[in-house]
Amino acid sequence: MAATDRGSELTMAATDSNSFRDPVLVSGLIRKIQNLAASLESSKCVDTSPHAPIDASFKAHSVAPPKAHPNNPNNSKPNTNRPNRPIRIMEVCGTHTVAIARAGFRSVMPANIKLLSGPGCPVCVTANADIDSIIACTRIPNSIVATFGDMLRVPGSSSSLQQCKTEGAAVQVVYSPLDAIKLAQDNASKNVIFAGVGFETTAPLVAASIKRAAALNLKNFFVVTAHKLVPPALRALINDPDLGLDALILPGHVSTVIGVAPYEFIAKEFGVPAVVTGFEPVDILQGISQLLTQLANGKTTIEIAYSRAVMPSGNPVAVATMNEVFAPCDANWRGFGLIPNSGLTLREEYVSYDALKRFAPEIEATKEHQGCLCGEVLRGTISASDCPLFGKVCVPANPIGPCMVSSEGSCAAHYRYQIVG
Ligand code: SF4
Repeated sequence: MAATDRGSELTMAATDSNSFRDPVLVSGLIRKIQNLAASLESSKCVDTSPHAPIDASFKAHSVAPPKAHPNNPNNSKPNTNRPNRPIRIMEVCGTHTVAIARAGFRSVMPANIKLLSGPGCPVCVTANADIDSIIACTRIPNSIVATFGDMLRVPGSSSSLQQCKTEGAAVQVVYSPLDAIKLAQDNASKNVIFAGVGFETTAPLVAASIKRAAALNLKNFFVVTAHKLVPPALRALINDPDLGLDALILPGHVSTVIGVAPYEFIAKEFGVPAVVTGFEPVDILQGISQLLTQLANGKTTIEIAYSRAVMPSGNPVAVATMNEVFAPCDANWRGFGLIPNSGLTLREEYVSYDALKRFAPEIEATKEHQGCLCGEVLRGTISASDCPLFGKVCVPANPIGPCMVSSEGSCAAHYRYQIVG
């Protein structure tokens, strides 16, 4: 891995957030992107099979083992042949999706650059079955379900935590899993069940809370673990023949925890360049320009353009805490189905904190939302506004699927910033 840092000049301005919105810097970077895009356009080679399946046995909703990528058919070294179609760059973080929408960057990209949104909203990728499990916990007698606020309105198969709360269930919004520990201490006669939803950014906090509960010998604190790990989902995305991704904007928050080593396979196995970026306009444009520079040079590596927050080694303490409490397990993602080793389950020493194992609540049969295309939106195969329900039946005040509920959902971002396509 060669985690270079061409963002160091940005880091110098880290204390002045306005520098990251400086119109001069922004317009300079847009010009740079336009020039790089033009050079890639002029050097383009015709790809004889731009959408050829990577693996004939690959099916949507399943994850194939690593196969050759169209950019790197022999999984050997990157080549500079560009397919005869726009270059597809995916941002895989919901915060990036919102930042790109807010800044209007899709509309200023050259015609041969296509920005796609991926599955980076943790609430959105949580499968209905997991949401139903959390909702089932509200029916456990003498219990309080503690959740982050963004989960409240997310619809499960037939209800939501908000609806349960309205109907009298004890549902409490917390801002940290440690707040749920306090809730358990203050309500010793109740079972407090924390809804553990989120990526590697959240999982270490939940792990630390479980360790805290163990240290306090708390017997009334439990967790539903529906955490997701980002790198296995990236493998699924790169392996998707419908997407043909050319480059990835990697999530800044998750990378502060896991560093860049877990992304190495993207460059080494698939020949796809990737850059970790921050969330300000200049960060994002810098990341895109670095990706295009790699493509123009036929170079493929993982770069950090967000070194004011991300170390190549990540946060080893957070990772160690997460690994001490959780073990990887297969997990169901909305839009993807089962992805091997993409979830977290409690290790044997901590299994007594598993709410579903402790109480075995009755969970309703899973139903999907009629007409909702969140799965396709999360896989990046359609844009939010391509959904027939978008902006008509499905609006933020009446969301049909999680991508319109969550503030980081692609549908909500498209609606809020009036993006079409
Ligand atoms: Fe689902 Fe609504 Fe998005 Fe359509 S617009 S994919 S119904 S959340």
